[in-house]
Amino acid sequence: MATHVNTVLGPLAVEDLGRTLVHEHVLIGFPGWFMDARQPPFKRSEAIKRVVDAFQELHGHGVRTVIDPCPMDLGRDVEFTAEVSQKSGINLICATGCYVEDMGIPWTMNQLPIEAVTEIFIKEIEDGVGDTGIRCGVIKIATGLDKVSDYERKVLHAAARASKATGVPLISHTEQCTCGHNQIDIALSEGLPPTGIIVGHSDGTEDIAYQMSLAERGVYVGFDRFGLSMGAVPDEIRIRNLMALANAGHRDQLMVSHDAVNCWLGAYGASDPLELNKIMPNWKMTHLFENIFPELKKAGMTDEQFNGIVTDNPRRYFEAAHKH
Ligand SMILES: [Zn+2]
Repeated sequence: MATHVNTVLGPLAVEDLGRTLVHEHVLIGFPGWFMDARQPPFKRSEAIKRVVDAFQELHGHGVRTVIDPCPMDLGRDVEFTAEVSQKSGINLICATGCYVEDMGIPWTMNQLPIEAVTEIFIKEIEDGVGDTGIRCGVIKIATGLDKVSDYERKVLHAAARASKATGVPLISHTEQCTCGHNQIDIALSEGLPPTGIIVGHSDGTEDIAYQMSLAERGVYVGFDRFGLSMGAVPDEIRIRNLMALANAGHRDQLMVSHDAVNCWLGAYGASDPLELNKIMPNWKMTHLFENIFPELKKAGMTDEQFNGIVTDNPRRYFEAAHKH
């Protein structure tokens, strides 16, 4: 039987994933976004149109599938995502799971025993989110800066158990390239294969030794913030380190994306999203194809190798978690 992945519009055979970006956001709303009464009201139909345009442009670059790893507590709206998928023709995969404790909504999961948290994640994968029937195809995990809180540890164990029970893989958020190894330790302690984990945001450092040490454990290493230059490393460093990992034999473990946010509910803290786009004009979903791949090519990567990173790696990630 062919392995299938849950998309927001239903199951999709892994062979049909095609070119895939593993970490882009349809919509994000940080906790309490609605409390900033100065922000203009959210206009859903205008927002849908804007986001659909962006995904259609991405479709023009041959991308067929995008993972939106928005956790439950960052304004996740799977019906909005489904509408974008339907109208843009891009397969979208949504997530269950929770964000970092001090930036998410930890109260409810904090009260519940680990078994209940596991059950909730499994329910969202097998039956769908709420009564929408929309099933999650990845589980988001997240840790804060330099240390894993008790809450994050519990939720990570629950996520790993849900992954093991359902064959749906883990995708992570790390803060400033810390705690990637803690995430791997927890996942492996629950019996997951390293190939069922993407350690996300691992491109935010010059520290090639950290990135190499992740790759050596067999996980997928997320170079998933191309174009995000504010408070992060420039793309030149990402390119240099990505090529170093590829040349060291880890090309099959690289995952590339932008972590672009196509629609904000409210503002991003004190930042006006429109200003963010002005400061970081390349922080958009087509940047890899327009600007980064030509640079990788100059550094020696072939079309076939790049295509392998955006097509074969995501496919094998879903296959590995599923097989387990
Ligand atoms: Zn993200």
